[in-house]
Amino acid sequence: MDFNTITPQSTADLLNVIQANQENNFRFGAGYTDLIPELQIQNEKGLIVINLAQLKDHDFTEIKAEKSGIRIGALATMTDTLSEENLRKIPVMIEAIESLASVQIRSMATVGGNICTASPAGDVSCALVALNAECEILNVEHKTRTISIKDFFTGVKTTVLKKDEILRSVFIPNLECANRTLSGFIKIGNRNSMEIALASLAYHLMLDENGIVTNAGVAIGSVAKSIMFTETACEFIMGKNIGILSEADKERFADLVMEYASPISDIRASAWYRSQALWNMCKSIFLE
Ligand SMILES: Cc1cc2nc3c(=O)[nH]c(=O)nc-3n(C[C@H](O)[C@H](O)[C@H](O)COP(=O)(O)OP(=O)(O)OC[C@H]3O[C@@H](n4cnc5c(N)ncnc54)[C@H](O)[C@@H]3O)c2cc1C
Repeated sequence: MDFNTITPQSTADLLNVIQANQENNFRFGAGYTDLIPELQIQNEKGLIVINLAQLKDHDFTEIKAEKSGIRIGALATMTDTLSEENLRKIPVMIEAIESLASVQIRSMATVGGNICTASPAGDVSCALVALNAECEILNVEHKTRTISIKDFFTGVKTTVLKKDEILRSVFIPNLECANRTLSGFIKIGNRNSMEIALASLAYHLMLDENGIVTNAGVAIGSVAKSIMFTETACEFIMGKNIGILSEADKERFADLVMEYASPISDIRASAWYRSQALWNMCKSIFLE
């Protein structure tokens, strides 16, 4: 690996560095848990790494409760996120983080890195898609734009980010209004730990006091070119009482989720296996 590193300390410095390198080949480095393995395989000549690890800006690093939700700075690590009281109330988020790699990796890996690496297997990204999170993007002119995370990914390892932009934070809209939730993250791999998902399902259903679904977010990972929000399955489950769902309803829900999946066969699993696993995962959430 051969690259030069620039380490901005403030956001003003960071934006100047991004501006000055518009004609160069540069990448950001946050926790480096994706970047270093990638560069080990594919050496990029003349690469500049803009190191974000020393950036002192709360907007990038902090997790804070806002009036209408929770904002997670892109540079917050998985460990930071796990210890945040408000996030501990969101099972899909906590279960996704706990399923990511190991304690050591989680102490380095950032939430922003998981999103920006844009892997279809990104566990925390999958949870954030189910939660209808919004990405806050900053550009070199200090202007911000907000985009739903559902629209952030454009394909395998590609995003809507332009060369003069950086992800600053991700916002999870208010989830506390529900009486109770059916929320979780299921990941199938070849091993129980340190495993990239073969298929994953993130779900967050908000229920009223009678068990009727008032809001639904369901996302799938590792079974398409990017993480998919399963809109029609969410619409189908809205207004239903999950306590008395019929077998036909559960199967219809699973079928609707499957419409968003286009799994491939590779060395780790066949497309058939991925499909079967996902279908079963969909039905299993109603067993809780
Ligand atoms: C052994 C091992 C096991 C793993 N297991 C899992 C797993 O189970 N599940 C899973 O989802 N992931 C897993 N990963 C992948 C990785 O740990 C996560 O994706 C992690 O969240 C990446 O964060 P990072 O801070 O290390 O990103 P980096 O490696 O620093 O960056 C990743 C990419 O995002 C870009 N980037 C980073 N921050 C920003 C930003 N703010 N704005 C714009 N671009 C940015 C970088 O330029 C780079 O292209 C594993 C990695 C390893 C090494």
